[in-house]
Amino acid sequence: MLYIKLCMARCSSEHHDLCAVAERSTPPTRLLNLGGSGVRLYEPRAKKVRYATLSHCWGGTSPLRLTQDSLIQFESQIAWNLLPEVFRDAITVARRLGIPCLWIDSLCILQDSKSDWEMESARMGEYYRNAYLNIAASSSVDSSRSFLKNRDEAWLPASFPVRSPQDGKTYAVRVQRLPKHGLDELTHPLSSRGWAFQENILSKRTVHFTHAYVIWDCRSCIEFDGMRHRIEAEAGKFNPDYRTEGHLEMTARHKWYELVERYSSRQLTRVTDKLPALSGIAATFHKVKSSEYLAGLWRDNHLLRDLLWFAQPPQEEETWNPRASGLAPSWSWVSIDWPVSYEFSRIESVKAEATLVEARCWVRGLNPFGHVVGGFVTVTGRIIRRTFHSHRMEILPTSEDGIAGVGEEFYPDTKISVYEGAYTPRIRRGGSYVRSIWPQRLPVFCLQVARSHHRIFSLVLSPSEYPQGAYERLGLWVCGVQEDVYWNTEIQTVTIV
Ligand SMILES: [Zn+2]
Repeated sequence: MLYIKLCMARCSSEHHDLCAVAERSTPPTRLLNLGGSGVRLYEPRAKKVRYATLSHCWGGTSPLRLTQDSLIQFESQIAWNLLPEVFRDAITVARRLGIPCLWIDSLCILQDSKSDWEMESARMGEYYRNAYLNIAASSSVDSSRSFLKNRDEAWLPASFPVRSPQDGKTYAVRVQRLPKHGLDELTHPLSSRGWAFQENILSKRTVHFTHAYVIWDCRSCIEFDGMRHRIEAEAGKFNPDYRTEGHLEMTARHKWYELVERYSSRQLTRVTDKLPALSGIAATFHKVKSSEYLAGLWRDNHLLRDLLWFAQPPQEEETWNPRASGLAPSWSWVSIDWPVSYEFSRIESVKAEATLVEARCWVRGLNPFGHVVGGFVTVTGRIIRRTFHSHRMEILPTSEDGIAGVGEEFYPDTKISVYEGAYTPRIRRGGSYVRSIWPQRLPVFCLQVARSHHRIFSLVLSPSEYPQGAYERLGLWVCGVQEDVYWNTEIQTVTIV
């Protein structure tokens, strides 16, 4: 605890410009009051309050929750024996650090009120951002596992005597293991959870309680307890106040790509939380970009380039459950459960080869950056008809004897299956297998979206079931410019849903 106090003091005095934590700030709607001997829920009246937040894994077990029935009880007192281990630990830490209030999602948001949840989850990013300190229960898989008690002995420091050849005296040498793969290795399991992503990114300073050490993580540095090991401000660290640093629009775009890539590899208990759990970061970006937010993408001059995301199926495919969630339109990376890459969008020479006619999304609920229930993009561009070979997962020329060009690559968005409907078979997202036993050749449409010096980038589309006449995205197709497959093709307008 002394170590955290030291870090807090140093952060305030040495790197105040970057970390800039106010002693007190605008409080959330509800907070846990830790003053006195008990713990109770209250609605702060003061304009400025010093409070900490908790970042934790809900896990399979459901932590203690605030409901409309328990509200009055919680406002008078929350019995200590009802509180799960992680909450008790967080309260202990906050009290010892002299922080009088704590915000815990499951105790400060009414879990049985849709409107309260939508309103509060929209402000959650702000809560973490304004907190005096974020306490991350990084080593706890769920709220029942204490993060103060369970340290892994393999990471504990060891010391052994070494005789100095210079003065012949014996000195104690202390050794401690360092993580090989950076912070995420140590902050697991919390670092794999979707909600914790923005909690960590938006918090100005987080103290991680890991199975190995206590780690101080602020906007200026990362420090490991007990070691003079210090990493100065992580290169890729996102600073939501970056407008003041004079970053250009391009930096914001690249930053968004990086955030999406990192976020898309995280797991969410509820697939419907994919947009809400990122909404705090999206709201922060919105202030800088002043562009319309479209299900994880931005409607600015780069929307067509941003459509060049592609899925990266994890190697242990069976451990994942990719599903076409149907929550977001197929052109959004939010519609799939696989991690995505923006590698092609980053290529400097990439230029749009189509025209955006219209793009819209429908948001459901009170959070403008939250759930979407559908959306479309209408694009005018060159389209060709090709054949999808279900067995080889390849896009082939439509003529029978044609073979795919050298260097062509198809990146499917999800598992793709052949749907043997009442009429003709067609391919669609989802389904239970990647390759059918009986290879099928089915028509697909390729829409040229962009080109770089060497490559043509196309969206692979299949007619959508609903609405009729629209298309859904199946993946990204990349081919060389040498053999121009779009030469002499007509320009058409299509709507992708
Ligand atoms: Zn700092």
